[in-house]
Amino acid sequence: SGKWEKAIEILKEFEEKCATPTGKLRQVADAMTVEMHAGLASEDLKVAASSRCSFSCVDNLPTGDEQGLFYALDLGGTNFRVMRVQLGGKEKRIFKHEVKEVSIPKHVMAGSSSDALFDFIATALAKFVATEGEDFHLPPGRQRELGFTFSFPVKQMSIASGTLIKWTKGFSIEDAVGKDVVGELIKAMERVGLDVRVSALVNDTVGTLAGGRYNNPDVIAAVILGTGTNAAYVERAHAIPKWHGLLPKSGEMVINMEWGNFRSSHLPVTEYDQSLDVESLNPGEQIYEKLISGMYLGDILRRVLCRMAEEASLFVQLKVYVIALISYNVPNSTLKMRRIIVELCDIITSRGARLSAAGIVGILKKLGRDTLKGGEKQRSVVAVDGALFEHYTEFRNCLEGTTKELLGDAVDSIVVEQANDGSGVGAALLAASHSQYV
Ligand code: ADP
Ligand code: MG
Repeated sequence: SGKWEKAIEILKEFEEKCATPTGKLRQVADAMTVEMHAGLASEDLKVAASSRCSFSCVDNLPTGDEQGLFYALDLGGTNFRVMRVQLGGKEKRIFKHEVKEVSIPKHVMAGSSSDALFDFIATALAKFVATEGEDFHLPPGRQRELGFTFSFPVKQMSIASGTLIKWTKGFSIEDAVGKDVVGELIKAMERVGLDVRVSALVNDTVGTLAGGRYNNPDVIAAVILGTGTNAAYVERAHAIPKWHGLLPKSGEMVINMEWGNFRSSHLPVTEYDQSLDVESLNPGEQIYEKLISGMYLGDILRRVLCRMAEEASLFVQLKVYVIALISYNVPNSTLKMRRIIVELCDIITSRGARLSAAGIVGILKKLGRDTLKGGEKQRSVVAVDGALFEHYTEFRNCLEGTTKELLGDAVDSIVVEQANDGSGVGAALLAASHSQYV
C-alpha cells in the first residue's frame, strides 16, 4: 500500500543523505589531517583542548621494564572500572591482573555534584583495595599508586593534574567543570580514608596507546569506539611548530586529538542527526562523535522509526516496536517491517564505521604513513579499544574494509588491532613509569 511506499521513501532518502562514497571519505580524511596540523600550530595547545588536540604530558611510553603493584581507575562512559596489576618487568610482564566493573547510577552521572561523583568513585576504589590478595606485592613502607583514566576533555597541566573543560557522553555535573579532577579525587579519597597516590592522569586514548605500545612497538595511534569516540597518536616533537618546552628525550609526544569534536562540511549530517544534537546535553558539540559512537547509534535509528510511524499511520505495530525497541519480545512485527529496521541499522552502522576509518586514514596521512615511500616497509599499528568495535561485528568489519579501501599500496603495512582493556592497563603502566619510587 501507499504507507509502505512512504516508509520506503523515507528509508531511501535517509540512505542517500548518509552516503559515504570513497571520494567523500577522502575529503573527510584530508579535513582531519588539516585539522591536526591546525591544532599543532595553535598558539597554546593546552588551551586549545576544548576543540582541538592537546598534549597529554606523556612523552615516555612504556618500555617493558615497569615493575610493581599499580592500580588504575577508568572513568569515561557507561561503566566505571577499577583494576590492579602486578608488573614484572621484561621477563614476567603483566603477571597478575584483576578488574572490577561498577555501573554509575544515572543520578550521579547527571545533575549531582563533583563531591557526589568522586565520593562514589573513591568508595568503590576503597572497597576494591580492601580485597587485595596475597598474590599482589607492595614493598613495605610504600604507598599504593594509581593511574587515573578520565576520558573527558581536560586541560592538562602536568602528568598528574588537569582541569575539566566540559562533560560529554551524557555526563553533566556543573560544579566539576573547571576543577582539577585529580584534586577532586584526592579530596574524596581523604574523605573515605584511602591512602593512594595519583601518579598519572590520562584519557582512554592515551592509556590505550601506552598499553598498545607495551605489547607492540609498531603501535602509532589509538582509537576508542565505545560510548564515545576519540583518538590519540604519537607525534614527532620536531613536527610541533609551537613547542615551547624542553624537547622530550624520546623525541616523541603523545597527542590526544579529541576527535569526537571534529566537524567538517563533508560530514553527512541528516535532519535526524540535527534533532539528536539539538536535544542532547551538549548541542553543537561532538558532531563527529554523534555520527559514530555507541551512545548515539540507537537514538538515530529511533528517530527515523518515529518519523516512519508518524507519516505512515498504518504503522501502529511499528509504533509499538519503537516504544519496545529494547525488548526482545516484539509481537506482531512483520517480515517487511523487520527488514526495514535491519536496513536502517546497516545504513547507520556503515556510516559510522566508514567515517571512523576516514579518521584513521587522516592520522596515517598526517604521519606520512598512508603510502609506501620508496618501497620501504614500515609497519603501522592502530590499537582500537571500546565495546562498539569489540562486540559489534558489522561495525568492525566495515571499519576494517573501509580502511583498506582508502589505502593504496600501503595497505599491507597497516594493521588495525583490538587492544583488550588497553586503557586501564595503559594507565597502570603510566602510573608505574611516573612512580614516586622510580
Ligand atoms: P566506555 O566507552 O563507556 O568506556 P565501552 O567501551 O564498554 O565503554 O562501550 C560501551 C558502549 O558500547 C555501550 O554503551 C554501547 O553503546 C556500545 N556497545 C556495547 N556492546 C555493543 C554491541 N554488541 N553492539 C553495538 N554497540 C555496543
Ligand atoms: Mg572505556
